[in-house]
Amino acid sequence: EPAVRADNVWKVYGSGAAEVTALRDVSVELARGRFTAVMGPSGSGKSTLMHCLAGLDTVTRGETRIGATRVTGLRDAELTRLRREQIGFIFQQFNLLPTLTARENILLPLAIAGRRPEPDWFDTVVGTVDLRDRLGHRPDQLSGGQQQRVACARALITRPQVVFADEPTGNLDSRSGADVLGFLSRSVREFGRTIVMVTHDPTAAAYADRVIFLADGTVVEDLAAPTTDAVL
Ligand code: ADP
Ligand code: ADP
Repeated sequence: EPAVRADNVWKVYGSGAAEVTALRDVSVELARGRFTAVMGPSGSGKSTLMHCLAGLDTVTRGETRIGATRVTGLRDAELTRLRREQIGFIFQQFNLLPTLTARENILLPLAIAGRRPEPDWFDTVVGTVDLRDRLGHRPDQLSGGQQQRVACARALITRPQVVFADEPTGNLDSRSGADVLGFLSRSVREFGRTIVMVTHDPTAAAYADRVIFLADGTVVEDLAAPTTDAVL
């Protein structure tokens, strides 16, 4: 089964004269172990699609799944558990807790889920994002690029079914952005993770092995890149 799936999804905001159709009959299947970028102009529905797939927003019609779990129709408590256990999030603004160290921020999703960190996986993730000597630092002692790498490690620490990244390089200089994208694509290639990234930056999308283009709430292009290694 795919890691993420949308079937005939519609999303309508508001009603009457204020009605906005943000998604029109969108169906996509995202395979495990792939890095998918969602692109499109501002207002094309990228964030709405991501929020619907991640269970952060409800669909108006159609249904979405994370792995075998039908997200549409879940109760709030079940949705919360699904997000905690099966989904990692990376945001444009990093969203780290300012009073916690890098180590504590990375481990937070496990703490919330009441799970123990497995040392090997923690070390692997921290090593891959190159943060071993920054683990005791708080976010205000870290550069933007380092903060986003902390956020990447936090998103992967629970080995979620899928990681959603919303403009992860939007606040980074190109060098730091390349580090973050390099980490994301390594975590797909080497650790078999599944990543969905919303971006309007073609340089960022070039790291993905599939690019879905939205326009006016529909998928207008869906490109697989069989030559990912050549692109990288
Ligand atoms: P993108 O992420 O591609 O910029 P969005 O998914 O944010 O696009 O928005 C798609 C459309 O839905 C836009 O027309 C936007 O104005 C509208 N929209 C998004 N969120 C809301 C909301 N909460 N209420 C009303 N309209 C919204
Ligand atoms: P998949 O490759 O199907 O996504 P996982 O990555 O969840 O599978 O699990 C792969 C291996 O990692 C398993 O041996 C599992 O026991 C181990 N594992 C699962 N969760 C964690 C975790 N939170 N920390 C460290 N190792 C984990």
